[in-house]
Amino acid sequence: MEDKNIVCKDCGKEFVFTAGEQEFFKEKGFENDPVRCPDCRRARKAERNNR
Ligand SMILES: [Zn+2]
Repeated sequence: MEDKNIVCKDCGKEFVFTAGEQEFFKEKGFENDPVRCPDCRRARKAERNNR
């Protein structure tokens, strides 16, 4: 597996979806690539926890 560059859906910044993360996603049964960068993912998670 190779690292993938993905453009974040939220901020438009390019981030790397590493081979290790892809492996992790596969293990967890996620079929789709992430659409958000780690920063935006964290921000969304924090927002959810605030409610
Ligand atoms: Zn982002």
